[in-house]
Parts: sequence; C-alpha cells; structure tokens
Amino acid sequence: MAELKNTFCWSFSQAKEFAACPRRYYWQRYGSWGGWEDLAPKGVRLAYRLKQMKNRFALAGTAVDLAVKRALEKIKAGEEATFEESLEEASEYLRGIWIQHQEGRWQSNPKRYGCIKELYYNEFSPNDPEARAAWAGFIKERVEVCLGNFYGMILPRLRKYLANGTLVPLGDPESGGPESFTIGGIKIFALPDSVIQSEDKFFIIDWKTGRGQQFYAHQVEVYGIWAQVKHGVPPDMIELALVYLPDGTWQNVRYDEETARQTFDFIRESVRDISDKLKGGDLSLNEPLNMENFEQTDRLELCAHCNFMELCQRQFALTYKEEERHGKRK
Ligand code: SF4
Repeated sequence: MAELKNTFCWSFSQAKEFAACPRRYYWQRYGSWGGWEDLAPKGVRLAYRLKQMKNRFALAGTAVDLAVKRALEKIKAGEEATFEESLEEASEYLRGIWIQHQEGRWQSNPKRYGCIKELYYNEFSPNDPEARAAWAGFIKERVEVCLGNFYGMILPRLRKYLANGTLVPLGDPESGGPESFTIGGIKIFALPDSVIQSEDKFFIIDWKTGRGQQFYAHQVEVYGIWAQVKHGVPPDMIELALVYLPDGTWQNVRYDEETARQTFDFIRESVRDISDKLKGGDLSLNEPLNMENFEQTDRLELCAHCNFMELCQRQFALTYKEEERHGKRK
C-alpha cells in the first residue's frame, strides 16, 4: 500500500484549535501522524492514542448526533421515530464505549475502540460508585434533555422541511472521511450535521449539545461555502441554522455573498497564520517547524480539558478543574 502523505488541510475546528493552543494543533496534525503504525516512535503512538479519546461532553454530543441523524433518516423513510428509541440508541453507544474502555483494546487500536478521557487521567475511579454515578448522570441528563427537546420542540418545526425535501448524504469522518471542498488547492473540511435539500432551499443544520458560543455562527458559514462550491448552490438558497438542543432554541444564521467573502478572508488569514509554522511556509511540503515553535497556551483551563496533558506534562491542570467544579474559580 502506498505510504499515506500528511497533506495540508484546513477546517474551522483546526483553526480554532490553532488559535487557542498552537501546541495542541501540533499534536493533532503532526505529532500524532503515523501513530497507527506498530513501529512508530512511542511518543507518536501515544499522541495518536490521546487524540482519539473522548470526554463526557464529546460522548454526550456524539450519542445525541447519532440518535438524531438516525431519527431523521427513519422519518424520511416513512417510518416512525420515537424519543424512547433514540434514547436507547444513544445509551447503547455510550454503554459500548464504557465497555470498550474497560476492555482496554483502545491501547492497541485507539481508532476503533473507545477510550474515555476522565478515566484515562484518573479524574474518577470506575470503582467508586458515587463518582461513577455522577459522571454517568451528567451524560445521561444531557442526552435525555437534548433528545427530549429534539422531539418536543425541534422535530415539529423540522417536519415541513423534511416533507418538502431530501436528506443530503454526508461523508462520515469515521469511515471514508468527512465532507470537503477545495479552495486554491487546499482541502477544506466541512462537517455539517444534517442537510435537507428542497427545490428552493439548501438547509444546513448544526446540532449543538452544549452552551452557545459566538464562533458557532462562523463555523456554519464555512458550511455555506461548502454548499456553494461542492453542490453549486447559490447563496440566496442557502439557509443555516444552529439548533441548541439543551434548551430547544433555534438560531438562524444569515448567509449571503458578503458573508461568503468574509468567510473566504477568514480562511485565507487562518491558513497564512498556520503556514508560518511550516518549513519555508510551504503548504505543499506541509512539514512543521520544531515543536517548540508551536507555543503552549498559558490558559490552564484549556489544558484541564485537553487530551494531550500527558505529553505536555500538564496533568497538574486538573487541580484547576477541581477548583472550577467546587466553585473556587469562575
Ligand atoms: S495540554 Fe495545554 S498546552 Fe498542551 S496541548 Fe493541551 S492545551 Fe495545549
């Protein structure tokens, strides 16, 4: 098999990661590259393993996403979808990850088998019933609330879109790769959650299972460009929506020629910033400068939630999280 090449690509989440902590970007994009190989250096294998871990927020988000997508597919196929069924699908996924973590197979195949960040970093013991119940309770409550709001508040509103449109098939990051398009030879990844296409609309939805963030609007604007470039949809047909499942709110995000132009500029600037960290600034070569050139953040609250604490030797940041949990930090 031909050797895989680490080609330069861009996504909104990578840009955000780079802005928050360049070192984290380094681990994600370069320090972990090739870590799937048995003979890769130990540090590279570790970075690759850490990269795959999921924390409780990500687990709840993935479980809800899977259940919501499945529900939409069923409804489009003329079948009924119910809250109970979706909850069971989400729970099955979560139970599976818990078992996979306990079995430890992620150590040799972290891509296929789940590893839970809080257990990996001993943030609680699986043998402590109280701590375990608190961790599981957080996820359970979030999943139940999100799915409850999806069925109670969002789905009734969405049915008119579903009745008049088709669900656009989307690339899967886990198998075959996510959706992407190309600008100036650079591959841009776009990961919209759900897209419904009708005669006069290309409706892109991003499901959110956590708190609202201002940058989310810019994230979905990149999906608008994806719709234009990959599907040839004119801007006035593109509708973008952020749907916050924790409280069932729905935020429409304006998209037009001007938004597209600003988003292009944002991508170009971000690519330029990242290329400063590459040898000769050469995107086609895509070889990073030494790791030390990718600065570590001094925001310990980011480290406390980061998978790469072990490589950065910043496990001490977890005390920050503890203080946060006990209300000593805001
Ligand atoms: S542990 Fe901190 S410094 Fe290291 S990659 Fe993560 S956020 Fe950056």
